[in-house]
Amino acid sequence: MNPFIELGIRHDIVNAISDLGFENPTPIQEQSIPVLLTGSNDFVGLAQTGTGKTAAFGLPLLELIDFDQNKPQALILCPTRELCLQITSDIKSYAKNMHNVKVVAVYGGASIMDQLREIKRGVQIVVATPGRMLDIIGRKAIDFSDIQYVVLDEADEMLNMGFQEDINEILSTTPEEKKTWLFSATMPAEVRRIAKNYMTDPFELTMGTKNTGNVNIEHEYYVVKAREKYAAFKRIVDFNPEIFGIVFCRTKIETQEIAESLIKDGYNADSLHGDLSQQQRDKVMKRYRDRSLQLLIATDVAARGIDVSDVTHVINYSLPDEIENYTHRSGRTGRAGKTGISIAIINAKEIGKIRQIERVLGKKFVKAEIPTGFDVCEKQLFGLVHKVHNVAVNDQQIDQYIPRIMEEFKELSKEDIIKRFASLEFNRFLDYYKNAPDLNASADESRVRDGERTPRSGSGVNADYTRLFINLGSVDNFTRGDLLGYICNTSKINGRGVGKIDVKGVYSFFEVPNDEAQQVVDAFKGANFQGREVRIELSGAADGERSESRSPRSSGGGYPRREGGSGNRERRDGGRERSYSGGGSGSGFRDFSGKSKEDRGERRRRF
Ligand code: AMP
Repeated sequence: MNPFIELGIRHDIVNAISDLGFENPTPIQEQSIPVLLTGSNDFVGLAQTGTGKTAAFGLPLLELIDFDQNKPQALILCPTRELCLQITSDIKSYAKNMHNVKVVAVYGGASIMDQLREIKRGVQIVVATPGRMLDIIGRKAIDFSDIQYVVLDEADEMLNMGFQEDINEILSTTPEEKKTWLFSATMPAEVRRIAKNYMTDPFELTMGTKNTGNVNIEHEYYVVKAREKYAAFKRIVDFNPEIFGIVFCRTKIETQEIAESLIKDGYNADSLHGDLSQQQRDKVMKRYRDRSLQLLIATDVAARGIDVSDVTHVINYSLPDEIENYTHRSGRTGRAGKTGISIAIINAKEIGKIRQIERVLGKKFVKAEIPTGFDVCEKQLFGLVHKVHNVAVNDQQIDQYIPRIMEEFKELSKEDIIKRFASLEFNRFLDYYKNAPDLNASADESRVRDGERTPRSGSGVNADYTRLFINLGSVDNFTRGDLLGYICNTSKINGRGVGKIDVKGVYSFFEVPNDEAQQVVDAFKGANFQGREVRIELSGAADGERSESRSPRSSGGGYPRREGGSGNRERRDGGRERSYSGGGSGSGFRDFSGKSKEDRGERRRRF
């Protein structure tokens, strides 16, 4: 008998999940489905992402809800729009053989009118991010008086993102007697508190030891000098020609810059962060899912909940501020029983952080060495040989050209031809890596280097200056001179001290003397330009200049290059989630925290 039937799931659902390739329940499904199917327990599940959580609560919901009734009976709250869409589409696919199942996704940054219309048409399962949900509740557009089940998915992340109050308000509109099912990758005190406040004697399930990372993921770290981090990163990528990876940066700026540098260097990469419009994010995600994008450079928030199969590597270009986020990041690989590698590129001062993560994961990292130029060339060469060997030949198409090709090659021996084919790609790597330095840092060297400031400034490194980002650029009609005037007027610093100014499309960079950087940042707090909040940030940038700047890929060939850069994207703050203030602030609406989590200072468990 199908093991899901044995767990109590009905045939039409089992058939649908069989089509998705679910043959056996994952451990969390095996243990939670029988409990949740009773419909009589509150539930706390401590489980990592990628363990099959969605079906663990989704399948019981489909069994428990009365789909003859056209009213909301289950509410699933989750932290991000991506996860919201993912859960919605997963549940719809489990229910594809059932009738009258109505699941609606409610999330910020998309038309609220469309969502209201869908709700009006009737819905039994609402999947929502808290901000938009509260907005809709505030409009009295939904009736939660028949809600029987509330699922809090990735509860730790929702609290991390400052949704505590919103969740409280939403839950207060649901009936007392509902059952609450909470899933979380980690169990900090705040999540415990929710469990205590909202649940009665919940059934608790811990998959594996607490906070233990997925066993299918190997963790590696590389120690490099800060200024050589980008070069080291590229080497790791070059050493893994088949990489299909997500690269995590700490800030939106860093994300954007690394993606731009990679694109410039001929890599198939793009960025995903909160300053992109929803449309842009969707487009990037579609390309990544379709695998026409090889490297997705992302911030923690933007990449939460992403479920893309077969991600081979997660690369921590910068370690996250919170240890828990490392678990979330690495959980993007090693999904559904596959194996994956999570890499951290660090400087010697960060080894302590690696040890902390090891303690939380209960798992050791392997210290890996940045491959030498020779290693990369060898790997690329055999990658190419392998590709040639395995390429699918379209006889019909190619046959017509064979006589001419043979004619061209008639002077050459088989060995000569092979050498030439191999050299075609390989020469670029050989050239590039000919005198490539060893990028592995000894601890001492890094320490000295980290003592120095090495801000990046266009074509050179200037230790006396701090590079700042401002969210104004040529689209706001700023020239370099205008921007200089604007900066000096607002912050009262002397224009002569200002260094390089780099005006881009929707943002710019400028350098100010180190001892004036804070004054500038402070002066712009609350500043407004034509009704828009002006944002100044320290530019984290790719650390230092590139020690291997001329990429072997930039001469063409290799991976397909994308059309246009990602530099001149439209920044749209409207993409952020808004929420109803419940009348408290008087303004009706507020940006749910004023800032996205990527910007926010407050962190839970910092290194
Ligand atoms: P989740 O933790 O719900 O995001 O699921 C992680 C991945 O595992 C998703 O791609 C699911 O489609 C897949 N998955 C969930 N349950 C099973 C199962 N029983 N068998 C195979 N794949 C599964």
